Amino acid sequence: QWIFLNDDFVKKEDAKVSVYDHGFLYGDGVFEGIRVYSGNIFRMKEHMDRLFQSAKSILLSIPYTHEELTDLVVKTVEKNGLKDAYIRLVVSRGVGDLGLDPYKCKRPNIVIIVEPLAIFPKHLYDTGVDIVTVPTRRNRPDVLSPKVKSLNYLNNVLVKIEAHLANVSEALMLNDQGYVAEGSADNVFIYKNGKLLTPPGYLGALEGITRNAILEIANELGYDVREEPFTRHDVYTADEVFLTGTAAEVIAVVKVDGREIGDGKPGEHTNRLLEKFRQKVIKEGVK
Ligand code: PLP
Repeated sequence: QWIFLNDDFVKKEDAKVSVYDHGFLYGDGVFEGIRVYSGNIFRMKEHMDRLFQSAKSILLSIPYTHEELTDLVVKTVEKNGLKDAYIRLVVSRGVGDLGLDPYKCKRPNIVIIVEPLAIFPKHLYDTGVDIVTVPTRRNRPDVLSPKVKSLNYLNNVLVKIEAHLANVSEALMLNDQGYVAEGSADNVFIYKNGKLLTPPGYLGALEGITRNAILEIANELGYDVREEPFTRHDVYTADEVFLTGTAAEVIAVVKVDGREIGDGKPGEHTNRLLEKFRQKVIKEGVK
């Protein structure tokens, strides 16, 4: 396995970054998770735009253009000879001293990792997942915007810990006002009374690229789809619930905080959207 690390391809065991990197010391940096399907990189432009916007927001200057970085991602995929894989692109602030000051970091560290990935076991796509809501709240948009996909993922990590403690594989975070925001690394949708709803970005959700693809697909299929706030009660009483993300793709949720959703099986709308999503990902992409 070859990793792109700054100007070079290095073997996995040699891909090492200094302990003085501010990504390590302070979570100072940004990242993207991207997917390759049948050799096509799904929505590369959207991922690059989000990466550069995240970086701009935290005043981190990436020493490549969109095109150059896209080219490096494509080359890393090719070098690893994988047709279906997950790509992790990380830009950290780079090496500085022990103080917080990012201006002491002279050059960002750029890492591209490509490898096969399955975050949920395959059978869960047939059965659906059992999830809980947790006390950890999504950070407020006016504090550090959840639109910044930063290396500072501590509240997402806490969500995952809380899911483990509850013996389930994923959990939902609420925002500071108690509206449902998103999962630890995925967006949430509910289908209720003939409407498909997902929380608006301003409530504190990352505007996921998979979420956008599902909004597009649902519109094409003629669904009444809205970005609208909803509460846990709406989730408990929904006909269908599902999560979306680059790693998770589209996965049905069949139980939330012990409340069975619908008839406890992945619903017809979720299955239909997943099927259309799978058709879309193999049709699209650079290369
Ligand atoms: N929400 C969070 C916090 C995430 O980290 C991710 C993963 O990237 C998502 C949602 C889903 O976004 P996307 O579909 O772009 O992967």
